[in-house]
Amino acid sequence: MGGPGSGRRQRYARQTTDGHLALDIAVLGRRGSLQPGRSGTVSWSRDGQPIGSVTVIGLPDGIRLSYRARTGEGAWEVVDEVVGFLVSATTFGSGRRWFACPACARRCRILYGGVRFRCRHCNRLRYESQFENRAQRANRRARKTRRRLGGTECLMAEFPPRPRGMHLATYQHLQALEAAADEQWASVVIGRVGRSRRGRQSRRQKP
Ligand SMILES: [Zn+2]
Repeated sequence: MGGPGSGRRQRYARQTTDGHLALDIAVLGRRGSLQPGRSGTVSWSRDGQPIGSVTVIGLPDGIRLSYRARTGEGAWEVVDEVVGFLVSATTFGSGRRWFACPACARRCRILYGGVRFRCRHCNRLRYESQFENRAQRANRRARKTRRRLGGTECLMAEFPPRPRGMHLATYQHLQALEAAADEQWASVVIGRVGRSRRGRQSRRQKP
């Protein structure tokens, strides 16, 4: 366990595990935030730093969300949106409430923050899989290279020594391949964390 860079890797991995802002209708219900007329702020932080907040106002058949979001050009704008409720019947007679995604009207329990708060189909899955595919491909390449050298696939371990009989040039080529894949893996992860950092700064600069 260990090796140079392992600490760095673990740190970024931890920062990205719960990187999403999520509004869970069950949690809001328990907090009393869904009651008509109630107004409150839901905020999120990561590593002790605030990364977002939304004002939630209870309406008779939905909630009103007010928050700042970044447009495609990078400017911040105020979003004021109503998210309606959908009610499904339960065996106990009382209906169960769901959010109706403002974009696709799909019934959902959790709205995820991206540019806008939307269901996971509209927001999260696509983003998440793009991110994971790129990171996983880079990760697989790095492991494969290590396997070719007869070493352990664990990226935390030291790079395998040059096998007996392998040309130095070949070994160096594989080493460069592994380093490039590792670098790409890190850039995907760090790029993602960096985006939220920039968002924080922009938010602060605004009066
Ligand atoms: Zn949706």
